Amino acid sequence: MALRVGVVGGGQLARMMIAPAVELGIELRVLAEEDGMSASLAATAVGDYRDAETVLAFARDVDVVTFDHEHVPQAVLTALVDAGVAVHPGPHALRFAQDKLVMRARLQELGMPQPDWAAVTDAEQLQAFLDEHGGRAVVKTPRGGYDGKGVRVVSAGTEADDWFATLAEDAHGGALLVEELVDFSRELAQQVARRPSGAVRAYPVVETVQREGVCAEVIAPAPHSGGRLQEVAARIGITIAEGLDVTGMLAVELFETTDERLLVNELAMRPHNSGHWSQDGAVTSQFEQHLRAVLDLPLGDPSPLSEWAVMVNILGGPAEGSLDERFDAAMTDHPAAKIHTYGKAPRPGRKVGHVNVVGDDLDDVAYEARAAASFFVD
Ligand code: ADP
Repeated sequence: MALRVGVVGGGQLARMMIAPAVELGIELRVLAEEDGMSASLAATAVGDYRDAETVLAFARDVDVVTFDHEHVPQAVLTALVDAGVAVHPGPHALRFAQDKLVMRARLQELGMPQPDWAAVTDAEQLQAFLDEHGGRAVVKTPRGGYDGKGVRVVSAGTEADDWFATLAEDAHGGALLVEELVDFSRELAQQVARRPSGAVRAYPVVETVQREGVCAEVIAPAPHSGGRLQEVAARIGITIAEGLDVTGMLAVELFETTDERLLVNELAMRPHNSGHWSQDGAVTSQFEQHLRAVLDLPLGDPSPLSEWAVMVNILGGPAEGSLDERFDAAMTDHPAAKIHTYGKAPRPGRKVGHVNVVGDDLDDVAYEARAAASFFVD
């Protein structure tokens, strides 16, 4: 009988696991939040991932449970483990991706390079951190942030009072994470796949370009990332995957500083936007790799298929209608562009698809990817 993988969450990451699952003969099941989501082609159940009964019922017929996002509560995750369900990544690993304060403390124990940071519970403590770090810093809500929401640059201790007020009752007693404002020259991402039985494979480190807190483009591999940078980034990724017992795909977002150090920004324990290039640019895509890893199957080769791959996100989409109406023009002008759509309604700033282009000349590849993606956005 085919192996069965259950994915909690019906977004685009679950959607993009469907094709490799079909190729490998794996049965993919999805617990979607509602009807008509990105992964509805494989959505076998619709229900609330915060409800243990719902998730337990979904998990009954699969060999392993994995995730499209990191929001499943710890209580639900531990209920699955207690019921004997294989969960990858497990709750003990996922909590480091769910809470940035817990992550910072653990990465410090592992000796990983990261920005100076502190947990602060009021304006006075925040001001003290600011005074020690040049008067500006980055404040983050420990939980629930994404795409730059829950991240704020401040220059006075009182500028996070609204967040202190709303978080007063949470697990950290209202603590916020504050970090030094890193003077980075660029942002990078390192992906690693790890099997429950221990084997790891590292993808090449990539450069990620963010606009308004949202990933806009990815270049793989990161330009000017000769052997040494690749090695250091891969070592950081593997150390974290092993140290936190991550299973499946791990993405480590990194800052490269102006004095050429790498600092860990944050972690994602699932396929990640920084790895979409691998669908068309690597021997094994991150989506196939995630399925292999969570099933504890031998990992595939993460090597690039050509010199360069560029991924450009389609953000927002057309002002009216759907992406499909723009296919003809984009495909006619850019036959080498691989267009991926998420079946989501266009909305300003929303990730609704992406374009991958691969080739040997970075300027040509980047031009093709940007030009093809531009057809879909007004
Ligand atoms: P999210 O969870 O919303 O993705 P991140 O922690 O990744 O939040 O922060 C979003 C963006 O904010 C980062 O990609 C980076 O551009 C900027 N940023 C975050 N932390 C820092 C920092 N300590 N110094 C400078 N910029 C930062």
